Amino acid sequence: MHNREPRDGAAIAAPGDTKVVLLGTKGGPRINRGRANPSNLVTAAGRSYVVDCGYGVTRQLVEAGVEAHEVHTILITHNHSDHMLELGPLVYSAWAGGLREPIEVWGPPPMGTIVANFLDSVGYDIDIRMEDEGRPDLRKLVRVHEFDAPSSPTLPGLPGQGAAMVFERDGLRVSAVKVRHPPITHAYAYRFDAPDRSITLSGDTTYSPELIALAEGADVLVLEVMHLGGLDRLLSRNPNAPTLRKHLIDSHTTTEQLGHVAAEAGVKTLVLSHLAPGDDPSITDAMWIEDVRKNFSGKIVLGRDLMTI
Ligand SMILES: [Zn+2]
Ligand SMILES: [Zn+2]
Repeated sequence: MHNREPRDGAAIAAPGDTKVVLLGTKGGPRINRGRANPSNLVTAAGRSYVVDCGYGVTRQLVEAGVEAHEVHTILITHNHSDHMLELGPLVYSAWAGGLREPIEVWGPPPMGTIVANFLDSVGYDIDIRMEDEGRPDLRKLVRVHEFDAPSSPTLPGLPGQGAAMVFERDGLRVSAVKVRHPPITHAYAYRFDAPDRSITLSGDTTYSPELIALAEGADVLVLEVMHLGGLDRLLSRNPNAPTLRKHLIDSHTTTEQLGHVAAEAGVKTLVLSHLAPGDDPSITDAMWIEDVRKNFSGKIVLGRDLMTI
């Protein structure tokens, strides 16, 4: 990592200093001014882990003080485009920036096909640069781990036990469960357990007992949120999606549900991110939080781009 400070002045993690940086906090694939599309950076033991790759992730990483080639692990929660549209370009930027070690990509099916198709689409450029600039073959540096997370982490024992172990390194344990985000059948939440801190990131989900089990006792839960009062205005801006309301209600988490989830999981800090709508100035900070507070007495943080928690 570089010594540069991110734009909000918060320092990026030193080794053992586990943090999450919210890179993009607006839900959905639409791009406009203000909040960036969904992505997060977890730093632990001096390494950078990117969770989700919405459009703009590479630029937001740079703003947070991390160059693409310093990322060696990427985790995708699900394959809605607002969570993976810039996965390929991030991997490409890592290569363009001097990547020599393999870059690991974890996520649900069809992750392997998605990455292979992207690499095909830039095959001409890779071939040219290998020949002309002597670069290594990007296709051999990308390691895709497509996996099927369990849907029921209900085994007794440690928090998160019964979840799929994704990987363990440098004292950091990353696990995952399947959450509820119909019609997508493979939508995951990830939990990072470091010696100093535990952080759970929900991905997109409606109320999911599986997420509550995964996040049990976590220091930080980063959870998506939908404000029902802003929904009608959001829908009026999407005239080509007549069934979008049903999708949003069936597969996302309202402010009121959010407080229940955080309270039932017993987390210390709840971070609201993936705001839907994320571009409606008539919803004030207080309005985002008031319904959450009805059910959760812990610390509530309204996420903003490049905020470090
Ligand atoms: Zn989303
Ligand atoms: Zn989604």
